[in-house]
Amino acid sequence: MKRRIGAQPPTTRPTILFLDHSAQWSGGEISLFNLVTHLNQEKWKPLVVLFEDGPLYSKLLEAGIETKLILLDPRVSKKRKDTLGAKSVLRLRELRVICRFCYRLARLMRREKATIVHCNSLKADILGGIAGKMARVPVIWHVRDRIADDYLPRPVVFGFRWAARLLGVTVIAVSNAVGKTLHFPQTTQPSLFKKVIYNGVVVHDGLSSPHLLKGETTATIGMVGRISPWKGQHIFIEAAARVHQRFPQYHFQIIGSTLFGEEEYEKQIRAQAVQLELENVLEWTGFRGDINQLLHEMEVFVHASTTGEPFGQVIVEAMLAGKPVVATNGGGVPEIVQEGQTGLLVPMNDAQSMAEAIIWLIENPEKGRQLGQAGRARALEHFSIQKTAEKIEGIYSELLKDR
Ligand code: UDP
Repeated sequence: MKRRIGAQPPTTRPTILFLDHSAQWSGGEISLFNLVTHLNQEKWKPLVVLFEDGPLYSKLLEAGIETKLILLDPRVSKKRKDTLGAKSVLRLRELRVICRFCYRLARLMRREKATIVHCNSLKADILGGIAGKMARVPVIWHVRDRIADDYLPRPVVFGFRWAARLLGVTVIAVSNAVGKTLHFPQTTQPSLFKKVIYNGVVVHDGLSSPHLLKGETTATIGMVGRISPWKGQHIFIEAAARVHQRFPQYHFQIIGSTLFGEEEYEKQIRAQAVQLELENVLEWTGFRGDINQLLHEMEVFVHASTTGEPFGQVIVEAMLAGKPVVATNGGGVPEIVQEGQTGLLVPMNDAQSMAEAIIWLIENPEKGRQLGQAGRARALEHFSIQKTAEKIEGIYSELLKDR
């Protein structure tokens, strides 16, 4: 349900300028879409600027959100964050592109009378942070990545932490796990306060609880996420093979596709599935726009990331669907899933433990049902987009008070 979109908003609302370098329909961008479409538009005027064209752009326009494109040279916009390094940032040609782009952004900020700039991705943080300084507009960095060297190249980690202090931005982190990686000193200047606000998901009516019928079903155990080594599809496949040996009638689903050029990994894991003789029980759905429906049809949801997940929005979606969750214990995940109460946590990179947790749920259907119900209650209480939007609006108000 969208909040007050379509109502006649007053014209003097502060403009919140949202920036994202990507227009893909992936986690951070879905979260941005949820936020802007649930802002109180009687109070705030959202304006989104994307640095590339893509599905997010059309979805925002369809939702009636004013959205503009300022195209960033693909040499900069398409550079993967895990391949960035000091050399690539300082390459002269790219530096020129970056300077020109920041200048254009700063001009737009002034022209649109932006009250606050809200950056939604690492590249938008840096470019929007510099442009905000030029235009003298307060900047928020909504940090959705762990700023740590098991996740990003070391120069990016240091550069990002240093830039946050230098630019004096306000930071929102999507989990405590992310917040900690920013290494802010305890006594920090007031403009640089950090707040953890969890991503919110769009609440929908309750979906059916799972009914695992031991030995009598072709129920599906699935995972959802872009296909990427650190999302751990290879661990899920290995766990699936172990579950399959015990319960050959169960089916498995890998939902999602490669997004950032990881086709080689997909080839490898498809070969792995063939080698483990899972072809007849493992379905590859590709990218799907109907995740809630697929979650509804699933019996157990598995999340398999092999390094700490910054947040793990899809876990909340599965909990909201009332599904028992088996998730790897890293990053922000234990802030979502309480072990044994709203799901099961297993060590990262451990297919055996993952298989044991899935088998336990198959053998204890009533316990699985209880976990699913408790998970849904927790998702409703802590992770609704309405609550997230209200908390973020609270930060906007605080920033305006300080001015
Ligand atoms: N998703 C989707 N279709 C797919 C696979 C994933 O819509 O085929 C969505 C999923 O529902 C979730 C998001 O992509 O909302 C992934 O967000 P998450 O935070 O879990 O991971 P990220 O991609 O940001 O690392």
